[in-house]
Amino acid sequence: MLDVSGKTVMVIGGSRGIGSAIVSAFAAEGAAVRFTYASSEAAAKALAEGTGAAAVRCDAGDRDALVAAIREAGPIDVFVYNAGLLVVGDPLAIDAGAVDRLIDVNVRGAYHGSVEAARAMPDGGRIILIGSVNADRVPGPGISAYAMSKSAMQGLARGLARDFGPRSITVNVVQPGPTDTDMNPASGPMAATLHGLMALPRHGAAAEVASLVLYLAGPYAGHITGSMQMIDGGFAA
Ligand code: NDP
Repeated sequence: MLDVSGKTVMVIGGSRGIGSAIVSAFAAEGAAVRFTYASSEAAAKALAEGTGAAAVRCDAGDRDALVAAIREAGPIDVFVYNAGLLVVGDPLAIDAGAVDRLIDVNVRGAYHGSVEAARAMPDGGRIILIGSVNADRVPGPGISAYAMSKSAMQGLARGLARDFGPRSITVNVVQPGPTDTDMNPASGPMAATLHGLMALPRHGAAAEVASLVLYLAGPYAGHITGSMQMIDGGFAA
């Protein structure tokens, strides 16, 4: 069901957390994986050595650099846009530049990266965007910019699903809930509050998210497109 062996996979933002788990999962299944990172060079090198994947330094918020990195990869069967920033705070006080940067990485990069990947993508290819449950549920203050960026991904997936459907390319969003990574550690100060909002009161594991991504890339998921796939421990239930 998960056969992706021989597929060419590119993961944008793969050095840590969920992206790293996605790289590892595809590599373990025999795919040829290339991933980008922005600043975590040591983690990227270790992951590349451990999995056989190729690591490419590229800021996903820099459109020209992102487009160049995707072109250089050649035809991609599976494109995963995972890079994401979280900016938390009172919108009346928050640094406007940080919000613009979040939009560059979470939204502009997702759009331009997906479109560029689709240019040379063979028929039957897959585009998978890592969104967030916060696109559908914002249970408290301080994350409006982040939630906006992940809601934008939903429109992007719905639209590109229509654009590329005639080529049998599917476009879907995977929407994790609280997942144990540097961005949202299971041991962090927000953990208990988050667990109180969930049907399954625990952080998810990055590998659990990766397994859903793998499924969407595999041969049995060819009729799933324009969809939002929740993997949130019932955060939005
Ligand atoms: P982390 O902060 O743990 O890791 C983020 C990854 O994205 C790193 O590999 C980082 O690389 C990369 N990245 C960030 N900015 C850029 C950039 N400008 N260019 C290239 N790569 C970049 O986050 P998570 O693993 O937790 O999150 C991954 C995705 O999942 C994000 O889109 C996030 O919004 C989403 N998500 C996470 C949830 C969670 O609870 N953890 C819940 C819902 C959604 P580097 O270190 O090299 O900068």
